[in-house]
Amino acid sequence: MELIKKISLLFIISFLIFSCKSDSISVSDKTEATPVTKRKVPKFNVENAYSSIEKQVGFGPRYPGTKAHKELIEHLTQELEKHTDHVIQQDFKASFLGEKNVDATNIIGVINPDKSKRILLCAHFDTRKIAEKDKDEAMQDKPILGADDGASGVAVLLEIAKLIKENGIDVGVDFVLFDAEDNGESNTGIGWCLGAKHWSKNPHVKNYKAEFGILLDMVGAKNAEFGREGYSQQVASKYIDYIWDMAGKMSYGNYFLDMNSGTVEDDHRYVIENLRIPMVDIINMSRINGREGFGHYHHTHDDNLNIIDKNTLKAVGKVVTAVVYNFSNGKI
Ligand SMILES: [Zn+2]
Repeated sequence: MELIKKISLLFIISFLIFSCKSDSISVSDKTEATPVTKRKVPKFNVENAYSSIEKQVGFGPRYPGTKAHKELIEHLTQELEKHTDHVIQQDFKASFLGEKNVDATNIIGVINPDKSKRILLCAHFDTRKIAEKDKDEAMQDKPILGADDGASGVAVLLEIAKLIKENGIDVGVDFVLFDAEDNGESNTGIGWCLGAKHWSKNPHVKNYKAEFGILLDMVGAKNAEFGREGYSQQVASKYIDYIWDMAGKMSYGNYFLDMNSGTVEDDHRYVIENLRIPMVDIINMSRINGREGFGHYHHTHDDNLNIIDKNTLKAVGKVVTAVVYNFSNGKI
């Protein structure tokens, strides 16, 4: 196994050197009909990502049925329209936490729709209607701002979309921003991931397929810890290996930890089950350093701008941008 890996890596490296050289020299080699373009990984701008979190949080709590939620959908659609080839709004009805058949919308931004080799990048944008874990009992039925749980993953993806628009890419990239993820019932398990359930059964393209996908959920908090999530590990362990190994080499091993973090009901589960796409959930969830699961702020009113750390956002942004471009460059 080890030997085969080394041989194939050498082959890829020599192939890339060859294809770079062939740009300036007219080389006719019929064995390499479609040379892989080598693109530099663009620089992730963490200030843009942070500004997006500020903007999203500025609308207020953003669960389906609220004015802030409508405003956010309009804003995210406009942002994706700037950075992708086309945007689809997918409407559906959501019932959750006492709400019945409320308007909800998944937002899908497509880059290079004609390419068959594709990567899927997802995050949820809705926020939680209640703060059931808040220390202050009187505040537990009030909606949260969701700076991390909602805004952070979307913010990282919008910056990556912008980078791709500016720098180009040689694969298809689909940004799927899910609605109605975060308003399930903790005791019954009903009502989570409604947008992902809907989209994975009704994808924007018939027989939709991507080689693999990444879900970002709570990727901006100070001292975040990302481990191998259970569903991801079952179907996408080779992508986890690649991403975590690369993160370590980029000196982000303090965020991307070598641990099994537990299994979480999250949007990726339904993309795996209904579309059979290997998905990696990058989510702040840990079993070490005195932690048991999510961050202390999870589903409390502490999930506001104060817990967001640009270092975490930058780590995730740089790693995911590198994954996307390495995929485009044929390294994954
Ligand atoms: Zn949540």
